[in-house]
Amino acid sequence: MSLKGKSALVTGGARGIGKAIALKLALNGADIIVNDVADIETMKNTVDEIKKLGVGCEALKADVSNESEVKDMVSYILEKYGKIDILINNAGITRDGLLVKMKESDWQLVMDVNLKGVFLCTKSVIRSMMSKRSGCIVNISSVVGITGNPGQANYSASKAGIIGFTKSAAKEVGSKGVRINAVAPGFIYTDMTDSLPEAVKSKFLENIPLGRYGEAEEVADVVLFLCEERSRYITGQTIPVDGGLAL
Ligand code: NAP
Repeated sequence: MSLKGKSALVTGGARGIGKAIALKLALNGADIIVNDVADIETMKNTVDEIKKLGVGCEALKADVSNESEVKDMVSYILEKYGKIDILINNAGITRDGLLVKMKESDWQLVMDVNLKGVFLCTKSVIRSMMSKRSGCIVNISSVVGITGNPGQANYSASKAGIIGFTKSAAKEVGSKGVRINAVAPGFIYTDMTDSLPEAVKSKFLENIPLGRYGEAEEVADVVLFLCEERSRYITGQTIPVDGGLAL
């Protein structure tokens, strides 16, 4: 129960990697606020599963790329819980396509949700964390933010942006007791990757030294570590969880 008494906000937490992270933090004692753009009803299953672990949990609908929705969500949490100890910036989308055919709207949407969303959520919680001289933020980047990937110029740029953001922000707030790190998952089996063409999936598999896709829980394990006291001397880092894909 390393996170007992802590409250954690997980964006895009209704399903996939976000849900696995929310469950992992809950299993270790944290109260969880699940954020998503999904309807509250859709988030209910996740909330019920988390509550069964004996921690507090509620769902808040907000689009992380919308400044006023993010501000309202964070104000509500701070008023109700008095603090946010942990922020997991997990919400993310893809709009894949070759650069020559990529629409400006697909570029912008991916940058808005994946990168601006991280900025908005971090900015909204950071004052409260700094004033308590304690806090932990984990941003979910991607291995393609390190390696690049054809057909994902928008997505990989947003995920590379998260890595730079993480380093800069960590340098700004480290002296105030706040740590900010990122995790760069490789190919993790979720709805996001399930929709990829078979040819793309098997190409990924060929390049994974550990010879298999990853599981959301394997990302969640590293996120948990980065939220725990035992990682107290780590900040500004991006840790790949990719079976060796980026090597
Ligand atoms: P997923 O299954 O598609 O789940 C993403 C979640 O984010 C969904 O619940 C989605 O809600 C929510 N979301 C989307 N836009 C949002 C917004 N504007 N505001 C709040 N929530 C929003 O994806 P995943 O595979 O779990 O990925 C989670 C994170 O890991 C993403 O940042 C992704 O880029 C990253 N990642 C994934 C992989 C992988 O292999 N799966 C690899 C590297 C990095 P709706 O369902 O309602 O749209």
